[in-house]
Amino acid sequence: MNYQDLLYTAMRDARPAIGQGRVADYIPALAAADPQAFGMALATVSGEVYGVGDWERPFSIQSISKVFSLALVLAHGGDYLWKRVGREPSGNPFNSLIQLEAEGGIPRNPFINAGALVVTDRLQTLTGDAGITVRDFLRREAGSPALDTDRNVAFSEAVNGHRNAALAHFMASCDNLENPVDTVLAQYYAQCALSASCRDLALAGLFLARHGVLADGSRLLSGSEAKKVNATLLTCGTYDAAGEFAYRVGLPGKSGVGGGILAIVPGRAALCAWSPGLDSAGNSMAAVAALDAFTTHSGLSVF
Ligand code: GLN
Repeated sequence: MNYQDLLYTAMRDARPAIGQGRVADYIPALAAADPQAFGMALATVSGEVYGVGDWERPFSIQSISKVFSLALVLAHGGDYLWKRVGREPSGNPFNSLIQLEAEGGIPRNPFINAGALVVTDRLQTLTGDAGITVRDFLRREAGSPALDTDRNVAFSEAVNGHRNAALAHFMASCDNLENPVDTVLAQYYAQCALSASCRDLALAGLFLARHGVLADGSRLLSGSEAKKVNATLLTCGTYDAAGEFAYRVGLPGKSGVGGGILAIVPGRAALCAWSPGLDSAGNSMAAVAALDAFTTHSGLSVF
């Protein structure tokens, strides 16, 4: 498999989609992102890393952080968490309020905002600092000691985060938060506002391709738990477009409104594609197109 050639082909096929869609502007600090930026990286379980375009340029990882916080909580055991958050696709936007009330404050899955707030709350209880725990995990797995939260983005999210605050307060009213709402929100923004490159994220997601094993050979998750995270990514990782993403790409994947998408080829590789222009579901148009092209040309998908 010539991965470098496949990445060039994917970038070529995605080119018409670069600059398409809208850069997220409900978080004002993200509105300045360059709509023409595009990068893609692939890291293999045998230790090779490939990249094209802006693959080493940091961007705001946003909801891709939800993969790492979930895995870090599940490493402590999932039984309690799964009583507080479901694992069904939501069929609703990632920041929807309506379903949460109808379902008594139990979010549909860990990858919509409400679910991620519950996961962050649990990680905060378990570690005392959820944001730093996610940051340090990324630093270690990517081998990037300078990787950090962009304080400007975190601040911008906090002052404009009325929907997230509403979700968190509603869940607190249902006794589904253990920590104060302000603490949970601050920790959630600290992890969403991490800046990392496609290279960093492909390396950091590789444990899911290695069936739960980290870069240093130690185990974060059992093979069975890693399978469950990948299954949940496939069904819920791209919100109400998860069906379309599975149809086009055929891999477990997690998007963020910074324009990145992390995708896992179990047993082989982790990929990250990035371009800031989003479709109406909040998924990067060029990143989906590039991953679609990659799996179409390589035949590497879970199906
Ligand atoms: N931090 C963003 C928010 O809370 C994350 C959303 C996303 O990437 N889909 O709205």
